[in-house]
Amino acid sequence: MKREKLAAVRGMNDLLPGDAPLWEAFEARAVDVLRAYGYRQIRTPIVEPTALFTRGIGEVTDIVEKEMYSFVDQLNGEPLTLRPEATASVVRACIEHNLLYDAPRRLWYMGPMFRHERPQRGRYRQFHQIGAEALGFAGPDVDAEQILLLKRLWDVLEIGPVRLELNSLGNADERARHRAALVAYFESRGEQLDADARRRLHSNPLRILDSKNPSMQPLVAEAPRITDFLGADSSAHFDRLQEILAAGGVQFSVNPRLVRGLDYYNLTVYEWITERLGAQGTICGGGRYDPLVEMLGGRPAPGCGFAIGVERVIELLRESGAMPDASACDAYVLHQGGATYLAALRAAETLRDAGLEVILHAGEGSLKAQMKRADASGAEYAVIVGEAEAAAGAAAVKALRARDVSVPFAAQRSVRLSELGETLAGALAALDGDEDSTSGRN
Ligand code: ATP
Ligand code: MG
Repeated sequence: MKREKLAAVRGMNDLLPGDAPLWEAFEARAVDVLRAYGYRQIRTPIVEPTALFTRGIGEVTDIVEKEMYSFVDQLNGEPLTLRPEATASVVRACIEHNLLYDAPRRLWYMGPMFRHERPQRGRYRQFHQIGAEALGFAGPDVDAEQILLLKRLWDVLEIGPVRLELNSLGNADERARHRAALVAYFESRGEQLDADARRRLHSNPLRILDSKNPSMQPLVAEAPRITDFLGADSSAHFDRLQEILAAGGVQFSVNPRLVRGLDYYNLTVYEWITERLGAQGTICGGGRYDPLVEMLGGRPAPGCGFAIGVERVIELLRESGAMPDASACDAYVLHQGGATYLAALRAAETLRDAGLEVILHAGEGSLKAQMKRADASGAEYAVIVGEAEAAAGAAAVKALRARDVSVPFAAQRSVRLSELGETLAGALAALDGDEDSTSGRN
């Protein structure tokens, strides 16, 4: 009987080995940059109590209204949710473990998030974010620090132009006055509102500004702007942020209609946008969320953070072709079974001691067939431990890639097994040196 094939959940993707080097390279560079700014990693569970997100994100948001994977644990009746974002989780963890008790914190995280959206390019039901949260810092210097960090990351990744849009949402009072003006404005033009906007008019009118419906755009363009409602403190925060960014050489434009999908943001909000990904062009969103720690039951502490959409950045990297293909290994070790296998095993371990990435041929097969495998593996070198070589305590080394002409192995040479690791590591280092001026081997 032939069994039915199983498939992954719609909108949830496998990361296949062909793409893994791109993800690994991106993650490694992102972590380097985060560490360069003093951020330390935090990992929180993927599943949290549903109340964390309804309280921490806000009831009237896209996420909580229609995107959460919520379920009841059938074994104990607990309402649980697959995390749709990680800020609420990070804040929960900081409160739970008293991390904000003695000093402010700079934290980063990465991992999968879950939102029940319509899958399309750049929009998935399981997607990944790399993000940072700075907790306990009130000033615009930390907002600026995170923006500079992101600018550095885009530069390191060489993903081409990414635009920064900036806005300030003010404080709760300022937003309340803006909100009243918005409601009055939209009410007076009720017949032009779409169904979404009508529904949000009294629950979350700010989100109408975020409407993606083209027919709503003229109405939205003329709506009252939050920046006209900012008081002295909020304006000072926003002005200082802009000064620091200008001094730091970061270009940006103020977009008074920029809001965030989450309720808890105040003051600074921003998005990094590329034109090369179509409709899903926002690769990172961030800003301040000073009320959140208290909302989640902690002693009040300001917060500021961002989240990068990893799939979207990976797509940009793939297009730009800037990232190296690091899938090839250093050496593929061939043998003829029996005693030669044991000698080959020792040779492979010696090479690994020297820091090389090595595939030892598994199973049987003629040397010719193994050579084909070696070639297909993308290895720089084939290391042959046949009967003759094993008897002489040596291995034959053959350079496999055309670009290797500059290394000491003209075509094939014999190297003593005891010296194999050093010799090959040296040859690879020479290769790396050669290539630093050209493409760069990862
Ligand atoms: P959008 O308006 O596109 O729905 P959002 O405001 O919901 O975005 P955030 O919650 O701010 O997005 O998440 C930060 C980043 O995570 C986004 O800028 C985007 O790059 C990425 N992201 C959000 N949702 C998805 C998704 N469903 N699939 C892939 N990436 C996503
Ligand atoms: Mg969304």
